[in-house]
Amino acid sequence: MTEIEQRIRAAQNPVALTGAGISAPSGIPTFQGAWKGRPIRSFLSREYFETHRIEFFELYIEMVSWCQKQPNPAHLALAEWGLPIITQNIDGLHHKAGSRKIYELHGSLRTLSCPKCGKVIEARPFAEDLKEAYAVRDYRAVGEKLRCSCSGLWETDVVLYGDAVRHMEEAYELSAHADLMLVVGSSLTTYPAAALPDVARRHGAEVILVNDDCVGHLTGQGD
Ligand SMILES: [Zn+2]
Repeated sequence: MTEIEQRIRAAQNPVALTGAGISAPSGIPTFQGAWKGRPIRSFLSREYFETHRIEFFELYIEMVSWCQKQPNPAHLALAEWGLPIITQNIDGLHHKAGSRKIYELHGSLRTLSCPKCGKVIEARPFAEDLKEAYAVRDYRAVGEKLRCSCSGLWETDVVLYGDAVRHMEEAYELSAHADLMLVVGSSLTTYPAAALPDVARRHGAEVILVNDDCVGHLTGQGD
């Protein structure tokens, strides 16, 4: 048992806060790079989404395919320990690892929703279907596939720049009631998530930061 696991098992209300670093050993990109010569983040704003849906979803289907990866032993360890998880990641790997209580602050690439009728669909088959229409540049078909059967426009469940972060109330509550917070693979540079360890500390919790070699520190195995 690693020292971290011992401390987690001894805690009454442990919680984990995770960021991109936990998913790097699984091969998930950080989305800091460029696509079609422009920074990926410039595509991920609410304004861009509302005005360039066809271009947005061309990148979206790529992102869905980049995230078809498996959880690594660090995700699996957090699931095995039964920790509630607050995550900045959108890759869905905590779900695949079997964690039950997961708060995805930045939403998720796993699903899309229709704001008009409330239907939720899986991103992967949607992306595969859409990919064929983009491949033959059939933008009329793309436009049709971007609509739900009720005629509403599919909305990504990823939180875009300009959108409110999700689940902050629950994340704040968990942090305030934790006696131990394990921060894994987050450089804590993005607010409001970055403020949560301070909330935990102010309420008396111990905060453990694991930023390099997440797998090694959590499981004792090298990654
Ligand atoms: Zn609908």
